[in-house]
Amino acid sequence: MGRHFLQIPGPTNVPDRVLRAIAQPTIDHRGPEFARLALDLQERLKGVFRTSGPVVVYPSSGTGAWEAALVNTLSPGDKVVAFETGHFSGLWCAMAARLGLVVDVVPGDWRHGADPDALAERLTPDVAAVMVVHNETSTGVRSRVPEIRAALDRAGHPALLLVDTISSLASMDYRHDEWSVDVTVGCSQKGLMLPPGIGFNAVSDKALAHRGGLPRSYWDWEPVIAANRQGFFPYTPPTNLLYGLREALVMLEEEGLEAVFARHDRHAEATRRAVRSWGLDVLCADEREHSSSLTAVLMPDGHDADALRRLILERYDLSLGTGLGRLAGRVFRIGHLGHFNDLMLAGTLSGVEMGLAAAGVPIKEGGTRAALAYLENGR
Ligand code: PLP
Repeated sequence: MGRHFLQIPGPTNVPDRVLRAIAQPTIDHRGPEFARLALDLQERLKGVFRTSGPVVVYPSSGTGAWEAALVNTLSPGDKVVAFETGHFSGLWCAMAARLGLVVDVVPGDWRHGADPDALAERLTPDVAAVMVVHNETSTGVRSRVPEIRAALDRAGHPALLLVDTISSLASMDYRHDEWSVDVTVGCSQKGLMLPPGIGFNAVSDKALAHRGGLPRSYWDWEPVIAANRQGFFPYTPPTNLLYGLREALVMLEEEGLEAVFARHDRHAEATRRAVRSWGLDVLCADEREHSSSLTAVLMPDGHDADALRRLILERYDLSLGTGLGRLAGRVFRIGHLGHFNDLMLAGTLSGVEMGLAAAGVPIKEGGTRAALAYLENGR
């Protein structure tokens, strides 16, 4: 009984307002009512990406939007520089290699973000693009995109900057235009509080002018952007998800993006205080790079994070994120993004604290109390 706690770092809880919007009857996607919806969405999406340029919408997961970013901008054999920040950066690199790109990976320890200092020496003249995952969902580490931009500018290098904001969009400060990002990759099921099923590319003028030569058809920006001018798509769009998207964007506008970011920052800080009070370690090792949408927690040696997650799911109906790739069994991840408030965090942390005790993990009591004290005294 009671509501399930879905505190994985995406898909996130979908607000009832958004669910109700999705439940409207499907309409003719070639009719005037749909055109009004699509034109309205185009404007509202610019706000969340902080761009004045086009945002291409795909019926896809984030992985599809990754592929779109690569095939629209790059040509076979192009060299790209990418940073190993965790599981998802690795998947994006593997995709780039499969598409025939030459990927120069800056190695990382999965506890730090992309290193702006390491970029300069990699920026040979043949580099066509730099790929960065803004918020590495597998580790809870935020890469400092403005510093990556500054390193490119210092070198006077024309490489395109491609950024994955799949778990930071509409949760953490992000500015497509101001940071001169060329393609921002996003999707629906995290900060946008929607079910999975929509992928996004926000596209700069430079990226539009660049146009690589990798084979593409479904993912080609051009027919989408052309059809979008009249409020249509070159294929059947996910009409009901787009109703939900409009409602979610209205909710974000009502709260205000700055307030949305502040809410996420505050919940992330409260979560870290709980983790440290328990005597456990946050995986992110750099104070400047904490994610505000999730926290990855390291288990003490000899304790299995997945056994803990199973126990917490069975006893408290609370879903936490699993350790991915090389972090399997070693970390669990607390998602605190999207449609989320103080009491939901209190419930989540209580579930984690009770679960840790029940699993026999040696912790100090009172982590949840430390988080609550921060929330009480905070903004
Ligand atoms: N990039 C990041 C940072 C992610 O967190 C994810 C999924 O969680 C992806 C890419 C892949 O997105 P999807 O699973 O929607 O294809």
